[in-house]
Amino acid sequence: MRKQFAVIGLGRFGSSVCKELYKLGHDVLAIDNNEEKVNNMTDHSTHSVIASGTDESALHSLGIRNFDYVIVAIGDNIQSSILCTLILKELGVSNVWVKAQNYYHHRVLEKIGADRIVHPEQDMGIRIAQHLVSEKIVDYIELSDEYSIIEVIATEKVSNKSLDQLNVRAKYGCTILAIKRGNDINISPFPSEMIELNDILIVIGHKNDLKRFEEEGM
Ligand code: ADP
Repeated sequence: MRKQFAVIGLGRFGSSVCKELYKLGHDVLAIDNNEEKVNNMTDHSTHSVIASGTDESALHSLGIRNFDYVIVAIGDNIQSSILCTLILKELGVSNVWVKAQNYYHHRVLEKIGADRIVHPEQDMGIRIAQHLVSEKIVDYIELSDEYSIIEVIATEKVSNKSLDQLNVRAKYGCTILAIKRGNDINISPFPSEMIELNDILIVIGHKNDLKRFEEEGM
C-alpha cells in the first residue's frame, strides 16, 4: 500500500531514507532549509520544499499532520531536532521517527513523545562488525538484547540438503524464516525445500544459538 512520508533534513541519512522510500513507490515530501539539499532531491521525491523543520506554520501549511510517517533527520543541530519533533507531535503527527545523535538527545526525544528513535551510525557499526567477524553473515538485525535475525550465506556444508535434513530448529534452536535466491525470496519455506550453494538464509533465534549455528552448522 502506498504511504505518505515526509523527511525533514536531507543530509546523508535523510536523503538516503528519502530516495529509498521513493524508489519503493511511496509518496515522499522532502524538506530541508538548505536550497541545494532540496534541489538534489527533486528527482528522488514526490515534492521537495525549502522550509525549516522548526517553523511551525510552514509545517502546518504543508499539511504535515496528514502524513503517515515523518522522519526527522536533522543532524548535528540537536536543538532543532528536538524542537521539530515537539512541533510535529503537537500538530498531531501519529508516527514521528527521529535520528538521535547521542544518549541525552535520545532521552529528551523519548520524553517529548518521539515514536521511534534511531541511531543509524551505531546500528550500522554493529552490522558491519558482525560481517567482519564472520564473512558468512551478510546482514544482522538486533531484535532485543537476546534475540536477533541474521542473514547467512549457505556454504557447501548445508547445500543440497533439505530444511528437514538440516533440522536447524532441533539442533540449534533457531528458525529459518526465509531463503533468498538471487532476486527471489521464499518466505516460510516448506521442510522439503532444498538449500542451494550461495542461497541466503534468514534465520531468527537467540544470539548464542545463532552463533552456534553459524560456527558449527554452516
Ligand atoms: P547526516 O549525518 O545525516 O549527513 P547532516 O547534519 O549532515 O546529517 O544533515 C542534516 C540536514 O538537516 C542538513 O541537510 C541540514 O541542512 C538540515 N537541517 C538542519 N537544520 C534544519 C532545520 N531546522 N530544518 C530543516 N532542515 C535542517
